[in-house]
Parts: sequence; C-alpha cells; structure tokens
Amino acid sequence: MEDIWLGYSRGRLNRIFPKVKKEIDVMIIDKKTEDDGVIMMSIKSEEDSNLSQTDSKDKNTDSEKDHVTILAIESSCDETAAAVVRNGREVLSNIISSQIALHTVYGGVVPEIASRKHVEKINYCVREALSQADLTLEDIDAIAVTYGPGLVGALLVGVSEAKALSFATGIPLIGVHHIEGHISANYIENKDLEPPFVCLVVSGGHSHLVVVKDYGVYDIIGQTRDDAAGEAFDKVARAIGLGYPGGPKIDKAARDGDENAISFPTAKIADAEYDFSFSGLKSAVLNYINIKGMQGEEFNKNDLAASFQKAVVDVLTEHAIRAVKQYGYDKLAIAGGVASNTGLRQSLEKACKDNNIRFYRPSPVLCTDNAAMIGAAGYYEYMKGERADLSLNAVPNLPLGDRERRFHGRSSQK
Ligand code: ADP
Ligand code: MG
Repeated sequence: MEDIWLGYSRGRLNRIFPKVKKEIDVMIIDKKTEDDGVIMMSIKSEEDSNLSQTDSKDKNTDSEKDHVTILAIESSCDETAAAVVRNGREVLSNIISSQIALHTVYGGVVPEIASRKHVEKINYCVREALSQADLTLEDIDAIAVTYGPGLVGALLVGVSEAKALSFATGIPLIGVHHIEGHISANYIENKDLEPPFVCLVVSGGHSHLVVVKDYGVYDIIGQTRDDAAGEAFDKVARAIGLGYPGGPKIDKAARDGDENAISFPTAKIADAEYDFSFSGLKSAVLNYINIKGMQGEEFNKNDLAASFQKAVVDVLTEHAIRAVKQYGYDKLAIAGGVASNTGLRQSLEKACKDNNIRFYRPSPVLCTDNAAMIGAAGYYEYMKGERADLSLNAVPNLPLGDRERRFHGRSSQK
C-alpha cells in the first residue's frame, strides 16, 4: 500500500514536515495499520503524557473536585476519533482511526464506506481513549461529540455513540461544532492562548476568517465564495496526477519547485474584503495544464505546485494579517487541515513577526481531524452550561457562530 501522510512514523513525518521538526518531536505517536487498511494512532504530547502518568488517576477522587474530564468523539468525515481531555487543554489520550488509505483508491472520501468503518471502529476508539487515560466512564464529567458540519451518515455514528453512552450512564452530553473544534485545537498546545484573537480556518470543506471574541463566541468576517482552500489543493493535485489527498502532496512537491515560475491570478472580492475565492485560481491552473497539453509541451509539476501554493498562501496571509491589524488584535491562530501546510505556516510566521502579532498554530497532527480538539471546544461549552439532550441529531450543514440555529437538541439555559 502507498505510504500515507498522516500519523506515520516520526521519521516519515519529519521527512514530510522538515521545517517543523521541532513540533513533530514533541508528539509521541503510536501507529499500527490494521488488516482492513485502517490506521490506528495514539497521539500525545510529551507534556500531556507525563501528566497522564502522574496524576490522571487522582483526578476525580479529590474531595474538592477541580477538574472537568471530557470524553470527546469525532466522526464527521473519514477519521473515527476519541479522546479524553481535562480542563479543555490537557490531552490524556487521543486516538485516531484514519480510513484515508481506503478512500485513496477512489480519489476522495466515499461517504458509505466512511460510515461503515466508523461503526466498526468507534467502540474500540472510545475504549482505547479511556484505557490510555487510565480512566473509566465513572470518571467522565461530560461526553462531547461533533454533530456537524460533515457527512450526515458519518456524523450520525459519533452522535449515536455519544447519545447511547450518555443515556446509559447519565453523563451530560454536549454537541460540538466541528470547526469550533478545529479552532480550539490551538488551546491544547498553547496554554496561554485566550480570546479574543483572529483565527484563519482552512480545511477541506471550509475557509473562514473568524474573530474569536470569547470562548464559543465567533464572528465570521470572511469566507470563501466557492471552493475551500483544501478543496483547491485536492483538485489541483488530482489535475497534475499527484493523487488524493492533495494538500500534503502539493506541499511536498512545492518544496522542490520554483514558486515564482508561473504567475497565477488571485481573486479580490470587491464588496467583501475578507472573503476568498479559489475557483478562479483552480481554473487558471487547469487552463495552464490544458494549454501546455495542446501545445505538446511538458511542464514542471513541482514548479506548478509551488506557484499554485504561493498564490493560495499569499492571499490567506494577506487577508489574515490585515484582519488582525484592522480589528486591533495582536494574536492570530490557524486551524484546519490546510493549516499544516509548510508554506502557509512559514509565510504567516514571518508576516506575524514583521507585524508584531503573536502567531499560534497547532502541531500538524492536531490540524487535521481529531477528537482532542472536540474535547477542548466541548469543555468551554460545558463551562457555560450548554447541554444537549437525546434529541441531538447530526446537522451536515451546521453554520458556525449561529447559536440559535446550531444548538439543536439542547436543553437551553438561555
Ligand atoms: P475537513 O474537516 O473540512 O474535511 P480537514 O481539516 O480534515 O478538512 O483537512 C483536510 C484538508 O486539508 C484536505 O483538503 C487536505 O488536502 C488538506 N491538507 C492536509 N494537509 C495539507 C497540507 N500540508 N497542505 C495543504 N493542504 C493540506
Ligand atoms: Mg476537519
């Protein structure tokens, strides 16, 4: 089977992300490939793994309990994941079962396969998350689960699991927005990060520029008008024959290419200065490939990957820095799968330094889908008194930051 990009041995990850080696080194990654091709991973930072060994056992026996321990579940796309998170920031366990190899042969995620694999893996992931945290359900204060946005059949598996556990044990249930989870991944490794800050959310399905006004309070100031950034990466990668998932492959090819070789246009949206549009850029790349084909000329794939990546990175960097400055904040965070892109991380790092902005980014393994981030977001919902009831349902197109519409099936305290 072809080597895949996520959750590989440390050596493999360091080859993929050489410039962020330091970040990768703080992660201990256990990984095994199962007979069905699904990759099981356990991810812990060294700091959090020490914590889990020393005092996780005591955590709920204190007479005056000052810990909130959340079991989190995520199944919105092609990762089945469960994690135990304490006080929103400390990861006691983080289990990810990645189906990416199964979908690679089809060039994208097949929803039906994703749902079936979630059903097969979810109990194992939950059991393993509890066991690696050295806890039982009795120690858990709340169960947080992603209920949207995502693939409906995939979301339903996690939501049903969480509801069943909550019903059987009486543990409170919290519905978490997937993108709020991605944003909250920043809290895990940056214990000092507190709102307000600006967050650039760039994933396979979303490209949002968000002001995080407070925990769980989001103001979307910009979003894509068409393709998400990750989608553009995936489509361009497919067009030049790099395969799926495209983002990491473009990232890797771009390292050997000249980013100034081809000049691709980036769209400006007149009436919404923070919005993005990537479909024009994608079409420009496809046109370039077609024209070269018609002229019978070869083109350098690495140069094309680097030039495309630069066009995306430049527009993301420019919008994000301008937003932080214009809104008067001094912190920028990034989130979502594309946030693991080497070029984007370097560009934002430099631009933040030049503009006296503090830059926060999760380790690449916490940028893509995982349940630890859902536990982080769930903690702040829990602390605000948000609770879902058993009518919680999967909401595939759940909007971000719209609290009235998004809390389906909660017992409202407002
Ligand atoms: P979603 O939850 O919206 O499906 P994820 O947060 O799981 O998206 O991120 C997956 C997306 O991130 C895919 O489009 C993938 O190509 C992209 N991606 C992952 N790693 C990189 C990278 N290094 N560079 C660019 N894009 C990346
Ligand atoms: Mg995601």
